[in-house]
Amino acid sequence: SFPADAVPQAPEDPLFGLSRAYKADTSPDKVDLGIGAYRDDNAKPWVLPVVKKADEILRNDPEANHEYLPIAGLQAFTSRAAELLLGKSAPAIAEKRTVSVQSISGTGAVHLGALFLAKFYKGSRTVYLSNPTWANHHQIFSNVGLPIATYPYFSKETRGLDVDGLKATLEKADEGSIIVLHACAHNPTGVDPTPEQWREIASVMKAKKHFPFFDTAYQGFASGDLDRDAGAIRHFAEEGFELVIAQSFAKNFGLYGQRAGCFHYVAPSGAGAAEGANIATRVSSQLSILQRSEISNPPIYGARIASIVLNDDALFAEWQENLRTMSGRIIDMRKKLRAKLEELQTPGGWNHITDQIGMFSFTGLSEPQVLKLRTDYHIYMTKNGRISMAGLNSRNVEYVAAAFDKVVR
Ligand code: PMP
Repeated sequence: SFPADAVPQAPEDPLFGLSRAYKADTSPDKVDLGIGAYRDDNAKPWVLPVVKKADEILRNDPEANHEYLPIAGLQAFTSRAAELLLGKSAPAIAEKRTVSVQSISGTGAVHLGALFLAKFYKGSRTVYLSNPTWANHHQIFSNVGLPIATYPYFSKETRGLDVDGLKATLEKADEGSIIVLHACAHNPTGVDPTPEQWREIASVMKAKKHFPFFDTAYQGFASGDLDRDAGAIRHFAEEGFELVIAQSFAKNFGLYGQRAGCFHYVAPSGAGAAEGANIATRVSSQLSILQRSEISNPPIYGARIASIVLNDDALFAEWQENLRTMSGRIIDMRKKLRAKLEELQTPGGWNHITDQIGMFSFTGLSEPQVLKLRTDYHIYMTKNGRISMAGLNSRNVEYVAAAFDKVVR
């Protein structure tokens, strides 16, 4: 048995703790701005209409059963998932330089990638994470024993990107470091590099032979445009980088609990097409071994739903429409929140609310202000002042703006 003191009590996950506190609050005014899941204008989870249709198709399929998927997952799903990221006519796909393995949503994809790098990566093994980043990145990479460093990301002054700090740190980092990049809708800040800034970041990384590790959890959910939200990844792929991508379908399909995701490896273009394909074959064989020991094979239901949509032109078009509904509502809430704060002449500038993109926004509210919002106004958000835009709706946005105004003054 364990020595009595070998297993210390761990703190509760802050996000799940926040959600518990919200649920226990009996105030009719309560607002949940902590959640990382889309809510409709009635503050309810939204099953995408296209997902309902795919579900219907699946349930009426006499061939459907509950057998195991292959180790690498549902190929009809993973191949379309790669096209979604890299573009249908991407040279990397045509040259068979890509490997795609279905994962336990985005978290599992980040983990599989981390495990793969921990086992095989021969460059400088330090993993650079943005400061701040999705908190789970720290846990996932340190769990596989990779050393972690951070690069500056968010500027407190501008509430935008600290692009100079970011580039300076990447320039100083040891050659061949692993750099984790949020492809779009950066969590938690909502701040993304512009296309021009992405080109600058790519050129620094190329000069330093850094290894890009993309995490994409919001493609199509950020701007409403799948191609636009994949712009950074496509630029790096076109530049010929060897890279990996962790892809989640939780938000853009609303398939959170189904754990539909994918991990992709892209061999460098410089190796030549034949060698690129050879590298991919070897990588694929090793990923299969890792996958086998971790989960044996991935879950089937969500992958089938996504696959039905991704492989049907009409359903795909409907999905894009659903994505525009979600991203459009969120962009609209950003506009309303900013407009109300400006109308109230709340101290400070609020343009960052509409400049930022995706599910989250870094408001700039301090920890005491966040706690006051919770105790006095029943508004729940993480201590760093991050709000989930999905928690806002036409009935509570003015209440929230008025409460922000009161705690800021
Ligand atoms: N990466 C980032 C940056 C995220 O925000 C999320 C979702 N919170 C994920 C990965 C993975 O989420 P999931 O495992 O639910 O796909």
